[in-house]
Amino acid sequence: MRKTRFLAGASIVAAGLLALTACNSGTPGAAPAEGDGTDTTQLWEVASDVSLDGSPTYERMVSADKVVVGVKEDQPGLGFKDPVSNERGGFDVEIAQWIAASLGFDADKIEYKTIPSANREQELVNGNIDYYVGTYSITDKRKESIDFAGPYLITGQGLLVAADNEDISGPDDLAGKIVCSVTGSTPLQRIRDEYSPGDTVEYDTYTQCLEQLRAGSVDAVTTDQAILAGYVAQEPEAFKIAGDTFSEERYGVGLPKGDTVLKDHINTLFNDGGDVWTALFDKNLAPSGIKGEQPTADE
Ligand code: GLU
Repeated sequence: MRKTRFLAGASIVAAGLLALTACNSGTPGAAPAEGDGTDTTQLWEVASDVSLDGSPTYERMVSADKVVVGVKEDQPGLGFKDPVSNERGGFDVEIAQWIAASLGFDADKIEYKTIPSANREQELVNGNIDYYVGTYSITDKRKESIDFAGPYLITGQGLLVAADNEDISGPDDLAGKIVCSVTGSTPLQRIRDEYSPGDTVEYDTYTQCLEQLRAGSVDAVTTDQAILAGYVAQEPEAFKIAGDTFSEERYGVGLPKGDTVLKDHINTLFNDGGDVWTALFDKNLAPSGIKGEQPTADE
């Protein structure tokens, strides 16, 4: 990537953020960063001289002339699909686009599949997707069936409650409370294993949990703070974050097991691409108040 390209991209990002600030001010629940017109594809070039000898996943992409990427679609700031325009955006989606570009595939060669937390490993194992970028924590258990590149973001588990809730300020305040999370997620497992909520309920998506919270049928939603912050940014009058994080979630790119060539390629892209990472973070996550630094991708 040439520096001049990045600088051009950076000023586009800055302009986009200004526009976002202007149109969001005084409008609680206004749309988050996605779809703000910022064209971050300016931040990178589509590679033309790619050689990834020994990567079966890359071979499959080349023969299909497309990249099939697993993502989320209901996580503002991370992986989001605008219900009106159908446009996808967010930090994870753009990380997926950056990876595709580094492999020689333009954004219009990407086919997205929305895959819930519980099905990620299986979709990778079955070869239905080439890689997955969607708030996917690196864990030893998952590494039994798939590989990860990364980490590319570090966050932690938190709690979301109704904006007027006064009695939950951390995971130790959950006695007698009903907590909602997503099937197959690390936060659901941890709240059950390490804390003592009154009860837990699980759904396929966090937005289903939000509906339960809105209706008053659960007292809290638990998942990563980076995800929760996106929901609060979208509806600050309805929800708030209760207390600090209580785990470390290291986000990785899910890959078919054994494709070390692709894994090394992505790790190098991340470790050499600090400017791109920062621009994507500032555009997608900083607006909801998330703070973070780029971790070293050492998986
Ligand atoms: N990062 C956690 C996980 O991978 C929670 C978020 C999610 O469900 O995607 O399980």
